[in-house]
Amino acid sequence: MKVAKFGGSSVADALQIEKIRNIIQGDPDIRYVVVSAPGKRFADDSKVTDLLYLCKTHIEHKIPYEQIFQVIYDRFMAVEADLGVDVDIKKELKEIKQEIEEGVSVDYIASRGEYLNAKIVAAYLGYDFVDAKELIKFNEKGKLMDDLTNEKISKVLSEHEYAVIPGFYGERLGDGKVKTFTRGGSDITGALIARATNAEVYENWTDVSGFLMADPRIVKNPKPIKSISYIELRELSYMGASVLHEDAIFPAKIAGIPINIRNTNSPEDSGTMITAHPKASENQVISGVAGRKNFTVIGIYKNHLANEKGFIRRLAGIIEDHDMTIEHLPTGIDTMSVVIDNKNLNGKLDELVEEFERQLKPDSLDVVEDMALIATVGAGMASRKGTSAKLFAALADIGVNIRMIDQGSSEMNIIVGVENKDFERSVKAIYEAFVE
Ligand code: ASP
Repeated sequence: MKVAKFGGSSVADALQIEKIRNIIQGDPDIRYVVVSAPGKRFADDSKVTDLLYLCKTHIEHKIPYEQIFQVIYDRFMAVEADLGVDVDIKKELKEIKQEIEEGVSVDYIASRGEYLNAKIVAAYLGYDFVDAKELIKFNEKGKLMDDLTNEKISKVLSEHEYAVIPGFYGERLGDGKVKTFTRGGSDITGALIARATNAEVYENWTDVSGFLMADPRIVKNPKPIKSISYIELRELSYMGASVLHEDAIFPAKIAGIPINIRNTNSPEDSGTMITAHPKASENQVISGVAGRKNFTVIGIYKNHLANEKGFIRRLAGIIEDHDMTIEHLPTGIDTMSVVIDNKNLNGKLDELVEEFERQLKPDSLDVVEDMALIATVGAGMASRKGTSAKLFAALADIGVNIRMIDQGSSEMNIIVGVENKDFERSVKAIYEAFVE
């Protein structure tokens, strides 16, 4: 059994909804369908959710909102007519408008895109409509009640063989009002439903055929990632690859359910499968390469540093007092390099260095700004000889000086620091060394 979540662009209009019907009808294992609100139909189109938020802001500032509401109204009316279903959207929209005028909460307004879309899709598929309020529960403070939600989903859905559920929101206990997740939260709804129903796979349908092995702005036509584990994905996303919202995959992750990222506009592509456990593949050493620019490295040299008790604690204390986090901390016998994201420095680099000098009394200290970090990630790297040799050779061949090397203890990633100006060509060289 599968749970399939369709994102905004997959349900943006009647044409897209026809596509998802073909997908769903082609796979009888898909029993529960979670939908987003209608998203963008073309690049500079508006998402219905954004328009709903806009209505609320207008009302708060006492500016007429009717024109914006009309755009939403027209979109839903057109979808209903084009698909030839009858769920009395007109009446629903009238009621929503009335409620808006009576001053309902912003969460309620924002949730109506999902609500109406789910009604339409359910009617079009001939599936039951199950309101997310029945399934997803938050406490009075707005925190998701995990166990109760799990219980509700399995209980309620056991009475529906096939159902469409709106994403993004649930019910707050106490006042019984609608409460939404953070933006993009339909992913979370889908993952929660997949967990509670013991789905074999959680399909997440969007407008790309999964993740790519490298940033296509840097590497031309990078290969898609066929399969990757949560851990590897986390490493790649931390280093800049844009992936799903972390919260979104969490429920599926703890239940160990694989997530399959699929493309509604190209359903024949198998997409990317995100698995619970890393698997080393025979012919693919790396899963991907990702990186970010703009880090600062503070190199500290002190004779007999290795024997000095409490050195790292004091160093970490200074960083913490400055409300910063350490990205990496490669160490030598008498040296230690602190790598910090420039965004984290907040213009306090001089202050930090001064404090290091005062408290740590190093023999020397140097600062390298404008560093880029590149993570080469892959379960296939562990236990395979020659991976780092290949990586370093690839960079040596193009004349790039590696300023820093760090390998995670999982042996699933090797991070190198290069100068910002060498970033793009280094990513390309690594990709080519392992993939092409
Ligand atoms: N419609 C909501 C948003 O735009 C939730 C979602 O699509 O996942 O954020």
